[in-house]
Amino acid sequence: MAVIPSLKLRGVDKPMPLIGMGTASFPPADLETTKAAVLEAIKAGYRHFDTAFAYGSEKALGEAVAEALRLGLVQSRDDLFITTKLWVSFTEPSKVVAACEMSLQNLQLEYVDMYLIHWPVTLTEMVRPPVPAEMVKALDMRGVWERMEECKNLGLVKGIGVSNFSCKHLEQLLSIAKIPPALNQVEMNPFWQQKKLRDFCKEKGIHVTAYSPLGANNTKWGDNRILGNDVLADIAKPIGKTTAQVALRWLYEQGVSIASKSFNKERMRQNLEIFDWCLSDQDLDKISQLPQTKGVTLASVLGPHPLVLEIDADL
Ligand code: NDP
Repeated sequence: MAVIPSLKLRGVDKPMPLIGMGTASFPPADLETTKAAVLEAIKAGYRHFDTAFAYGSEKALGEAVAEALRLGLVQSRDDLFITTKLWVSFTEPSKVVAACEMSLQNLQLEYVDMYLIHWPVTLTEMVRPPVPAEMVKALDMRGVWERMEECKNLGLVKGIGVSNFSCKHLEQLLSIAKIPPALNQVEMNPFWQQKKLRDFCKEKGIHVTAYSPLGANNTKWGDNRILGNDVLADIAKPIGKTTAQVALRWLYEQGVSIASKSFNKERMRQNLEIFDWCLSDQDLDKISQLPQTKGVTLASVLGPHPLVLEIDADL
């Protein structure tokens, strides 16, 4: 079974495994499919799972964790690192703690290891897209973060952080936070390298987690610009690796952690085999020159509202 390196994050006792299994699929995979994939991932060595209220995968992950404990695949819940996220329809101070408790109930857990604000925006109601413009409003950063801090102080979550926050949002958050965010989960891969944001986060002691590390191949929000790329394929071939492994290894060498999704037994195992070899300086140089294109946008989820477009432009 693969051994995955871990990292101790600021303010969080349990080290976080540097690669986690993502659980987002669209349309959401049914409960049994996701549960089976998580159990398979645990057998392969994954101990870190990334979910969100919005993915509809919390229940399946919770069932898989319960089953893994029953089967003895893991000795204790404490052996797992579980991340979930506060959806934008709950980013109002009065809704945060209840939303966190709802996620815990979905997951059948007493705590999660990491709780993230999913996007720096608020939807006044829970609606399916297209979202009417009047329902999209700016995040009450202070009010919401105070409630995130309360979730931690109540023991509902061990660590708190953010997702899809630009340098501007992080500046604002750091100026008011009593507990600074442990991490920022953002889109990052060889085609969206996030240099500026990573430099900023490093300076401020905020860890970066890369989502869509493979460009979200074959999903509604992604394409094959990574897995179909000749430069990456040409790097992979002579060293006996796959294009996916080159992309994941590159991320690891940048000092970030990774949330990557595969529900396929072979591919999820392949994605863990990135820790005992390295890319050459020439390979790194070629990757640094790849054209940059952002894949994931909030506008594709909520619609092209001015505030939403502003958030996308900043990221
Ligand atoms: P990824 O970049 O991880 O790509 C997933 C896709 O790549 C799936 O179609 C998967 O198919 C395929 N794949 C995985 N491994 C391989 C491989 N070795 N070779 C070929 N194809 C492969 O995309 P995601 O967008 O899913 O990102 C990962 C996770 O990050 C999400 O599941 C979610 O947990 C998180 N995320 C967070 C966001 C946020 O706003 N915070 C936004 C988006 C994602 P298959 O399953 O068939 O192998």
